[in-house]
Amino acid sequence: MPAQQGLLTKRSEQRMTKKSLTIGRITISWLRGGDFRLDGGTMFGPVPKILWEQRIQATADNTIPMVNDPLLIRTPEHNIIVDSGLGNKLTAKQETLFQVTSPWKVIEDLAALGLRREDIDLVILTHFDFDHGGGVVMQNKRGQLELTFPKAQHLIQKSEWEDVLAPCRRAQSTYWPINFETLAASGQLKLITGDKTVCPGVSVRHSGGHTRGHQVVEIASEGQLAVHMGDLFPTAAHSNPLWVMAYDNFPLSVIEQKEQLMAEYRAKNAWFTFYHDPQVLACRLDERNRVREQWVTAS
Ligand SMILES: [Zn+2]
Repeated sequence: MPAQQGLLTKRSEQRMTKKSLTIGRITISWLRGGDFRLDGGTMFGPVPKILWEQRIQATADNTIPMVNDPLLIRTPEHNIIVDSGLGNKLTAKQETLFQVTSPWKVIEDLAALGLRREDIDLVILTHFDFDHGGGVVMQNKRGQLELTFPKAQHLIQKSEWEDVLAPCRRAQSTYWPINFETLAASGQLKLITGDKTVCPGVSVRHSGGHTRGHQVVEIASEGQLAVHMGDLFPTAAHSNPLWVMAYDNFPLSVIEQKEQLMAEYRAKNAWFTFYHDPQVLACRLDERNRVREQWVTAS
């Protein structure tokens, strides 16, 4: 599929030309964390293909394009990364298996914004699935593993970290030692229990649902608001609370959390930001959870 791959790469490049979303005195930018193709059925769990394909077109092999784009949140005091992309440690076999169509370019994208990886103070992990935690540890030019953001504290829910270290059978395929061992030994891991203000304007809330320790991120400044619901709301096409993923470990909790969080943040006119959507970076919802305004990549 060389033509399609070219199209995706072009879209990835265009994402850098997109303006950042401004929330009061805070700016949110999207970094290119690697693109892949996933089975459309798994992304939409119980939803019949005839419905989800009206939102995202699948190819003959039933896959759909997905991005894994970390958020860079710049507050007046701090530089924060939310989730870390696929990283640069995938083997050729894994790149084929996951149909990776564009590599992880987080460091290049930070440089384009005038930042080095040492400038990141905080990394918030919504959860530690490989597509979110893969960029926490990188392979350097000498082939050694090191923290991608060497000065940052890494914030993760305690229950998520417990499951990373002692995964159930299903989670063993997504919590990879190569992604967490260096972090575990670094002394730069901070475990959180429940809800917490991380720094002025940025807070996390434990949600569970997708994983037991999944957390969401709230960004607030000068009366404006955004919420990053991570894999509870992976793309704008998932705005119906009942549209959950086959990857969700606790789908009924996902539905409950989506209904609660969407109602709360919708009422406050918040932006909902996305990690996996190849085109929509953020949206606002109407009272029936339909997308009423969206912030898209410049394509
Ligand atoms: Zn994900």
